[in-house]
Amino acid sequence: MSDAKVKFLNLRGDPVGPNEKPARFSFSCPKRAHSTCGTLLLKEGPRTAVHGIKHDPQNQNGGKAQWEWNGNREAPTFQPSVDCKGCWHGYIISGRCKQVDQTTDEPEPE
Ligand SMILES: [Zn+2]
Repeated sequence: MSDAKVKFLNLRGDPVGPNEKPARFSFSCPKRAHSTCGTLLLKEGPRTAVHGIKHDPQNQNGGKAQWEWNGNREAPTFQPSVDCKGCWHGYIISGRCKQVDQTTDEPEPE
């Protein structure tokens, strides 16, 4: 698992302060094909900003895929998995990237 280097952002994609509720997040792509796998939208909730965007996991009918965040800024966990098409598909758990086909919980060398 590699460090996901999660950054919390507002709806415009600017970094948020420690007391500001985020609307999006970005993370460092484990494949390093690019610096981040894009900015992902967070589901509205008590810890996240209100954005009024309809939830649709397939990005259809005016809706957008959205991720559930556990509220931990230092070591965040998100659900569901992140599919960066043709690049990487995995989970961000406790601030680390974990590929979906990794069946073991053993830490990998960086
Ligand atoms: Zn990627």
